[in-house]
Amino acid sequence: MSDTQDPYENLKITTGVVAEPNTSRANKTGSWREFKPVIDTDACIGCGQCDTYCPDQAAKPVEGEDFYGFDLDYCKGCGICAEVCPTDAIEMVREVK
Ligand code: SF4
Ligand code: SF4
Repeated sequence: MSDTQDPYENLKITTGVVAEPNTSRANKTGSWREFKPVIDTDACIGCGQCDTYCPDQAAKPVEGEDFYGFDLDYCKGCGICAEVCPTDAIEMVREVK
């Protein structure tokens, strides 16, 4: 390649769109899980970071409470919620099946 040749000249980029958002709710990924999130409800400040970052929309506010919980039908146990929680309210615990 010469110094002036465009290195991306032959690169083909496929464009696309997300045609149907929220498809994570169509797939119950709970059976993939090795670890499950367990919440310390006293430590939870209800900030919603776990909900924002959960790839499976499994972290949700518990109705009538000021803390969050998890829909284990959809939680695949990735641990992202525990990583982003600012108060370390979530512990990932190995699940016995
Ligand atoms: S990120 Fe942590 S503190 Fe915030 S709502 Fe979720 S569990 Fe509670
Ligand atoms: S472990 Fe992963 S899939 Fe489960 S609630 Fe946390 S972020 Fe969502």
